[in-house]
Amino acid sequence: MTDSWGRGKIPAPQTFGTILDASPDALLGIAADGRITVANAAAARLFGYSIDDLVGRDHRMILAEGFRGEVDQLAAQLLSEPDGHVPPREIYGMTRDGTEFPAEAAGSLIPPGAMPGAGCAQDSDDGARAQPRLLLSVRGTSHRQAADADLREAMSLLTATLESTADGILVMSAEGRVAGFNDQFLTMWNISPELLKEDSEEPVMRVIVAQVADPVAFTAKVNELEEDLSAESHDVVDFKDGRTFEQYSRPQRVGEKIVGRVWSFRDVTPRRKAQEQAHQAMLDLAAQAEKLRAMAFQDPLTGLANRAVFNDTLSEALKEPRLKTVDVLLLDLDDFKEVNDILGHQAGDDMLIEVARRLRGCAPSADVVARLGGDEFVVLLTACPDADAIAECIVRCLHVPVTIKGTVLQPSLSLGLASLGRDSVGASELLRQADIAMYAAKAAGKNRFLRFHPDMMTALMQRTHMEGGLQLAVSRGEITVDFQPIVSHRMGQVFKFEALARWDRDGGRVPPSVFIPLAERIGLIREIGTEVMALGMAQLAPWLSEDPSRSLAVNVSGVQLQDPDFAEAVLRLAEKSGVPAYQLVLEVTESVFFDADCSLIRQLSTLRDAGARVALDDFGTGYSSLGRLQDLPVDTVKIDKTFVSMVRTGNERLPILSSMINMAHSLGLTVTAEGVETVEQADYLTALDCDSLQGYLFSLPQPGRRLDQALQHAEEALSRLKGR
Ligand code: C2E
Ligand code: CA
Ligand code: CA
Repeated sequence: MTDSWGRGKIPAPQTFGTILDASPDALLGIAADGRITVANAAAARLFGYSIDDLVGRDHRMILAEGFRGEVDQLAAQLLSEPDGHVPPREIYGMTRDGTEFPAEAAGSLIPPGAMPGAGCAQDSDDGARAQPRLLLSVRGTSHRQAADADLREAMSLLTATLESTADGILVMSAEGRVAGFNDQFLTMWNISPELLKEDSEEPVMRVIVAQVADPVAFTAKVNELEEDLSAESHDVVDFKDGRTFEQYSRPQRVGEKIVGRVWSFRDVTPRRKAQEQAHQAMLDLAAQAEKLRAMAFQDPLTGLANRAVFNDTLSEALKEPRLKTVDVLLLDLDDFKEVNDILGHQAGDDMLIEVARRLRGCAPSADVVARLGGDEFVVLLTACPDADAIAECIVRCLHVPVTIKGTVLQPSLSLGLASLGRDSVGASELLRQADIAMYAAKAAGKNRFLRFHPDMMTALMQRTHMEGGLQLAVSRGEITVDFQPIVSHRMGQVFKFEALARWDRDGGRVPPSVFIPLAERIGLIREIGTEVMALGMAQLAPWLSEDPSRSLAVNVSGVQLQDPDFAEAVLRLAEKSGVPAYQLVLEVTESVFFDADCSLIRQLSTLRDAGARVALDDFGTGYSSLGRLQDLPVDTVKIDKTFVSMVRTGNERLPILSSMINMAHSLGLTVTAEGVETVEQADYLTALDCDSLQGYLFSLPQPGRRLDQALQHAEEALSRLKGR
């Protein structure tokens, strides 16, 4: 059976009804007057009517208000465009109980007579009217709307998430267009939204690349990811402005297909800064620990090793089998105290640093060069073929002048060298031997090195023994005073005695040239000086009281003058002994003025104000020139015996003596000549108008109980001179 258009056969009525009922969509035949002529089971289900209830009724009853003209419009459209595609319409249907529901309605025109009365139900009242004109297919879409709502909700959730995340997100399509981004992305990269509207990624990339610290690496990475659509990456991107981003990139997939790429950026600057700070803190800690460690082994001023390192290394060296030599070179700067006192501690430090530098240079092969403290250094040599040569080099190198604080100084040092010999000795013994040798080098005149010799030990023991003895000398009454007369040729008499300290010990007499410097060094000179002064005043007081023009001279060391109470103490002592201050003369050497401070000058001024006088002892042997004399607070100069001893026959021309005397006189000072031993000398000096004379010619220094003999001897000598 072919229809009128010849398009196939119409199925048998029974079969046709079955097929209609099998359709999942509601199918309705609508007649030209709008009545339902055919309905299938799905239609009955959808609208809540029985098929019989539907057939014969107007179809508008199953459409919601506002949609009741839709079917007519559909039919009209189908009629006007028989070959066109007429899309389904969104309508609202209505069930028997009045419930409206969304649906999709599609239709097709039925040629007249093509469709028999459907098997399922058919309006058979009126054959012509019952001919369906339109086959309407209705599909409920409530389920689809629910899905749409879910989608919308999911979308809004996604958008909210994207916008609230701290990460910046950019989605690029596979074609290289911007497919999506969030606000955070714009803020983080400082990108204006306009840029992203462009068709190409170029402008965005330019802004991005301009900001990263390493544009080349960044671009390479991006290109690499573009080549391989499925690649994922996780990188750290540093910015020129100091920020750091973590950058994730992964493909965007729809099903299996890769449609683009998602970039996600996270600002990790605070985290990185915290990490950096933590790292820096760790480094600082490590550095501090290293510094502490170094401080335990290093002399902070010179950077040399310290005593602990030296001791350890020496002990280790001595434990080694006897294959090599071990030499200890101990050295101490000469007169370093003066550098500190005169130029200040900074200059002293500079000097020590320079010495350390030179030492390292002289002994590059040394096992250890250490500073033991103060101005004492030590060099340890093992397996050195010629330690003496190194020692000599050190002495020579150190003596090269150096400019410190604008002053040219010539450092010098005394070095003691001790070596491991046939007898094995311990570390401390070796160091002690080097110390003894160094001391011997100082005693031998400084600026030299001496190798340890056992004889030095004996000398040291004597010295140590002497030191111990001197400590007790005053309390044991071993310190006494001898007096030597000073005569005035003009007056023809003794007018002054000089008090000279004596130390009798174990039946022998230790010369003052030995025990006075020792007392100065070990801090005993104050005690001894005071004792001499007290004994001298006490013993000479009766002689002094007979004639106010007589006086007593006592020697005063520079160390004593450093005591701020010195002048007071002298005046108190004088008062106690009943000796007026004006009968006192204090003999000081030129060296006390070398680095004279105000305090020292004040001591001397106080004494001179009280009437005492000051004599400059050993004049001519020190540094001061004649020109400096006028600045010094002195009343008398004592010409040293070395000048006096130049006079032998009395006929020689000695301008130095005459100019000394003339100069002193022109400054209003009196002159005493020391060490006068011969008549020729006495005559010569008298001829030069020297004011007073002292020496063996008149008398040896005598103890107080032999004062009369001394006086008598001196006066006899004087009258002999006069008689010539
Ligand atoms: P000085 O102050 O220059 O004392 C003079 C020294 O020359 C004394 O030596 C004396 O005995 C010696 N003498 C005197 N006449 C002659 C002579 O005609 N020919 C020679 N060759 N020598 C003569 P002395 O007693 O051995 O004292 C040495 C130094 O010790 C003194 O030199 C002085 O600097 C110091 N001295 C002595 N007693 C004291 C003291 O109580 N305190 C201080 N600070 N120093 C003292
Ligand atoms: Ca003297
Ligand atoms: Ca003298």
